[in-house]
Amino acid sequence: MISMSISQPPSPSPSPASPERQEPTVTDRLVEANARYAEHFTDPGMDARPVLKVAVVACMDARIDLHAALGLQLGDCHTIRNAGGVVTDDIIRSLTISQRALGTRSVVLIHHTGCGLLNLTEDFRHEIEAEVGQRPAWAVEAFKDLDQDVRQSMQRVRTSPFLPHRDDVRGFVFDVTTGRLREIDPRP
Ligand SMILES: [Zn+2]
Repeated sequence: MISMSISQPPSPSPSPASPERQEPTVTDRLVEANARYAEHFTDPGMDARPVLKVAVVACMDARIDLHAALGLQLGDCHTIRNAGGVVTDDIIRSLTISQRALGTRSVVLIHHTGCGLLNLTEDFRHEIEAEVGQRPAWAVEAFKDLDQDVRQSMQRVRTSPFLPHRDDVRGFVFDVTTGRLREIDPRP
């Protein structure tokens, strides 16, 4: 039997813990949690089409538990999330599939107080370009006025030629300190 100290090349600095003694990574934690989840999982036998025929577009912010905040159950809705909950071309792509292939009709947009995008500007892109030598093709979509950004997102959904259902589009700001939604009037 060959011991680890012989099979491993000598290390110039104090070596990190051997593989079997390494701390689990966050992904390991998630995989372990999934194993426990799957033990009690029963096939809900659901169709891929959301029961409530609604798509929720929201910021990826870790403080927003969409299902809890909106009283949603498994299978009720599509949740489409990105940085800011901004309606980009890729969000339109998902909404188009959601409506045309999977039967949703309503769109709910959720931005929130304390959003990370409030502290960014388009300089973020230029800084990345200076660092890596390539300009990202995407816009940062940073904003200073939350309400106005929700309005712009509503407008982008309402004017998309790809979406057959544009009559029920509502936008909100979620307050991360109270858990409350505030509806935004589409007219400024
Ligand atoms: Zn955010």
